[in-house]
Amino acid sequence: MKQILVVEDDSDIATIMRDYLVAAGFAVDVISRGDRAIESIRTSKPDLLILDLGLPGRDGLDVLREVRRSDDTPVIVVTARGEESDRIVGLELGADDYVVKPFSPKELVARVRALLRRAEAKPDAEEILRANDVVIDVPRRRVTVAGADIDLTATEFQLLVTLAREPGRVFTRLQLLDAIHGVAFESYERAVDAHVKNLRRKLEPPTGAPKYIQTVYGVGYRFADR
Ligand code: CA
Repeated sequence: MKQILVVEDDSDIATIMRDYLVAAGFAVDVISRGDRAIESIRTSKPDLLILDLGLPGRDGLDVLREVRRSDDTPVIVVTARGEESDRIVGLELGADDYVVKPFSPKELVARVRALLRRAEAKPDAEEILRANDVVIDVPRRRVTVAGADIDLTATEFQLLVTLAREPGRVFTRLQLLDAIHGVAFESYERAVDAHVKNLRRKLEPPTGAPKYIQTVYGVGYRFADR
């Protein structure tokens, strides 16, 4: 049974999330403080984390930063309406997805399922993508640039694989959103920009124009075909 950790200080919302997730067949723990969440994530190693951003003890973004320092647990952040900048910062810190309050519990469950599927996707046995000095070992979820290992979250990995499978093809933000969600949720195209920014930070040379993931103005992105 998949273990989900819900970090949410509003007990009504936490109860609704727990009830729906339990009904969907997940094992759920609820924690209401940010400082206690970090400890719990390290000891209980949940399969997925649902993280409210406004938390007592320690801010949700802080918790996320701390979590991403050591692992790639799938994370969905929960934000209040109007906290658009927090949402983008959350994605930039490596969150895989977000929901905005008030959200439909059914949609949350659907997103949890989609994210778990994505995190566990077992692609073809021996797919290895090579482009320039980037090597992507798809089944092993391993990426190297000029021989050096790069750590990517499940979402960043999926985004990179989607682009690198078809070098030169231009993808719109909407197509990329689709690829990373597995299911076409109504979502925010700037989320793609945030993930691309992360990918570039990990992949691209520190200065100069992006070598691998190129921006196609007004449309989206493509992986360089050399
Ligand atoms: Ca809160």
